[in-house]
Amino acid sequence: FHVPVAVNEPVKSYAPGSPEREEVLLTYKDLYNKKVEVPLYIGPDEVKTGDTQSMHPPHDHKHNLGVFHKAKKKHIEQAIATALEAREKWANLDWEQRAAVFLKAADLIGGKYRAKINAATMIGQSKNIYQAEIDAACELCDFLRFNVEYMSQIYDEQPESSDGVWNRIEYRPLEGFVYAITPFNFTAIAGNLPASAALMGNVAIWKPSDSQIFSAQVIMEIFKEAGVPDGVINMVMGDPVMITDTILASPDFAGIHFTGSTTVFKGIWQKIGNNIQKYKTYPRIVGETGGKDFIIAHPTSNAKQVATAIARGAFEFQGQKCSAASRVYLPESLWPEIKEHLTEDLNSFKMGSPEDMTNFITAVIHEGSFDKLAKFIDQAKKDKNAEVVIGGNYDKSEGYFIEPTVILTSDPHYTTMETELFGPVVTIYLYKDAAWEDTLKLVDETSIYGLTGAVFSGDRYELNKATKMLQNAAGNFYLNDKPTGAVVGQQPFGGARASGTNDKAGSKLNLLRWVSPRLIKETY
Ligand code: GLU
Repeated sequence: FHVPVAVNEPVKSYAPGSPEREEVLLTYKDLYNKKVEVPLYIGPDEVKTGDTQSMHPPHDHKHNLGVFHKAKKKHIEQAIATALEAREKWANLDWEQRAAVFLKAADLIGGKYRAKINAATMIGQSKNIYQAEIDAACELCDFLRFNVEYMSQIYDEQPESSDGVWNRIEYRPLEGFVYAITPFNFTAIAGNLPASAALMGNVAIWKPSDSQIFSAQVIMEIFKEAGVPDGVINMVMGDPVMITDTILASPDFAGIHFTGSTTVFKGIWQKIGNNIQKYKTYPRIVGETGGKDFIIAHPTSNAKQVATAIARGAFEFQGQKCSAASRVYLPESLWPEIKEHLTEDLNSFKMGSPEDMTNFITAVIHEGSFDKLAKFIDQAKKDKNAEVVIGGNYDKSEGYFIEPTVILTSDPHYTTMETELFGPVVTIYLYKDAAWEDTLKLVDETSIYGLTGAVFSGDRYELNKATKMLQNAAGNFYLNDKPTGAVVGQQPFGGARASGTNDKAGSKLNLLRWVSPRLIKETY
């Protein structure tokens, strides 16, 4: 039995005058002025609790997009009961049927809903069209399609049998339900975390980030149209502490699929520990958390290539990627040339609303993020051991706009070399050319995180040395390339240390966390 071989969804160009450009702009305008009302999705019910919160585009925060409804404790309890009821049938469905549902969802995303999911991502999360296309349209399709292929490979793996003995493994879903908590920065991650667990036969309660609800609703619409049965994926919003505490108090809580901050994840892990006597099964804990991703260049590297990697790796998506470069180590000898190219690149980035497709940089996600970034930029302007060398302006009068900002520091432990900022600010430290090996040690020892990192060198032996010395510094490690832009099916994604459990999104390793295999031995 063979499932369709997964291929990456082709990225559309959105060139001026292209039909996809016209369509996404029309959809954008339509959604912008519609005033949506996002309910809780519990089984077949769209629950309007009356307790609402309004939504605003980060690039135009006075504009109202509508509201989402917030759950009370009883709604979460209802979602748990509904999910468990749906589990009876879903967990026992032949896996080909589950595959068909999610393959259809992928086709809807790549086809009929492409403009809508992209436009919702552009509006709600302030992504330019190219970022939305790569994230919402292509990566979400890729997750769904590749996961089907990986699932079929998992089910194919069977133990040896011998004369008179037939051994077989059933890859059963977990006994209970899975809780998915998803971030604002990727529509694809938001869809994939509940979907990957559900594909393996689990039922899920999904809590999207408050800042991604505008596109999360479109994902729910697609799942429903694709035929995900009622109750298999339930979407709830509201007070995160109340939701999490209610969910973790259930004896049927069987796993968490999380992307978000290290602090929140550790807090949840601790709560799971406190509740451990309650559970029927040891819960699976799968999380991708923070990062302080690096670029280090050897004196033999190509200055232009390094500058491009910083410009794209640190500033694409407004730096709001877990993988975005945020601390950079450059040899003194290359800095003048790199600075020249980097300044040129950053000056060519236009900033503004995603509706104007010539804008490359848009707004950061919300006021909290804006204020935090502005504070670090101001501090760097004052501090003796730091200097803002490119950018440094910001303005929140209309939207949360922060110019791509480069801080240069003489202190490798300067605050912005160590603190996760999650925005368009990068900090550069210049090392003496002869201190390459000491600097590799510094890269390894400076951060508690281990998500992504990039090493540049024209010398194969130095690349090899860096690869060996930085064994645990990054779960996704790039040689002569920027540390971002992992493609499903090509670069499975995830980090270790304080960056997560490293169960690689978009891989068999991840899907295996959502099964509880039963070995059956039969003699005949
Ligand atoms: N997979 C994305 C990349 O490689 C990052 C995902 C994230 O920000 O969590 O750029």
